[in-house]
Amino acid sequence: MKKTRLIFFFFLLFIALSSSLCYSQQFNQYDMDQDWAIGDFELLDAIDAWAKGNLEDFDLLDLIDFWAAGGYQWDPLSRVYKAGYYEGNLITLKYDHNILEGKWKARIQSFLDADVIPLIDLESSLSSVDGMRYLEDVLPVMDAEGVALIAFDGHQAPKQNVLQTGYRWSYYIHKVVNTYAERFVLATNGGTNNNWFQQKKSYIGQLEQHVRGGNYSLIGEIEFRHYMSSRQCADGRTDRDINIPIDSVNGHRIFSLSQETGIPFVVHLEPEDTPLDALEEMLSTYPNAKIIVAHFGQIRHPEKETRFSPELIRRLLNSYPNLYYDISTGHPGRRYACNNNVLDTVIWQDDGSGSQTDTLKPEYRDIFTEFSDRFVAGFDYGGGRAPLPEFISLRTGNVRLIMRDLPDEAKHNIGYRNAWFLLTGTAWQ
Ligand SMILES: [Zn+2]
Repeated sequence: MKKTRLIFFFFLLFIALSSSLCYSQQFNQYDMDQDWAIGDFELLDAIDAWAKGNLEDFDLLDLIDFWAAGGYQWDPLSRVYKAGYYEGNLITLKYDHNILEGKWKARIQSFLDADVIPLIDLESSLSSVDGMRYLEDVLPVMDAEGVALIAFDGHQAPKQNVLQTGYRWSYYIHKVVNTYAERFVLATNGGTNNNWFQQKKSYIGQLEQHVRGGNYSLIGEIEFRHYMSSRQCADGRTDRDINIPIDSVNGHRIFSLSQETGIPFVVHLEPEDTPLDALEEMLSTYPNAKIIVAHFGQIRHPEKETRFSPELIRRLLNSYPNLYYDISTGHPGRRYACNNNVLDTVIWQDDGSGSQTDTLKPEYRDIFTEFSDRFVAGFDYGGGRAPLPEFISLRTGNVRLIMRDLPDEAKHNIGYRNAWFLLTGTAWQ
């Protein structure tokens, strides 16, 4: 190697090391609560210091910028603060589990007191862009629709500079929970990123560290077998046809993470014939891992999912007490564009003219009733959906339609009690 190249190599190494060491350590001294934002009172303190001659004019102007921009970040390359929030900066939660559970409980109870069955959504994700766009507007919609809690998975943080490598964990949901602790629940970043799809080391490694760290209440949706959505097919995409065996090395790591910590996890696993065997094997190998399989009754390739039936579901739920499903699934008459527009949700009755009615098939209504302690609500908010407030109204409509003809006990179980148990480890009292 030539000498100049060698020097350049060490220069890059130095920058890379110094930048990784500096992340999340350089809080501005006026950011007293260390949340990467300058709040009103912090700005007043700064103005006070400036008036006393303890703060330079240009430093105060910077702080006003940070206050107006909703945050600031430390740039390890230029070693200065910049206006603008960066979600890859570590944020700590303001509240411990006991305080959070107290806040959740009060909100759930407020709906019960008003004779509304509250809903807890265990299957949505929120990017910082969507959060900044919609979060404030969704609050009154949640109140009106009886949505007590939403657990949000985080998305990967954007690249801050060219030297960043590996998965970039986002702390945006920490910020959301710190602001609205009574409404939103901290789920991990989801397994819906290229680092996971390509089974690289960094997402799974960070996931383990974060879950073991004890702040998270839920491991966000991990995709194992995932068909493309109707929209992705229409866009001509092929990259979201995901096929990671649930009994792969990383599948074992996820199950054992849940087994060890007691934290439940959501998986996307189209119930194809072969993966079902692997799922059963994993459920019996990790009896204390709590798994929530998303999108109950969504069958988009019936030719590959021939075993899915009420009998199979009964056998699975009877055999594996650690298996849960969420009812984030299609509305009556929904069709799947990637496979000849098949009706993709098998729980609804046929209407006799090629579509479906808004009533459950009796065999599935019986399963929701008999195994009502094994289903949870889910809305499946994420990228590329309708604006969040509108979306929540639509999806609560479908969840309440699924619950409509069930006995009261089942409505309460599916609406919030099972989610409460999964999030807190204790039965709803
Ligand atoms: Zn999914």
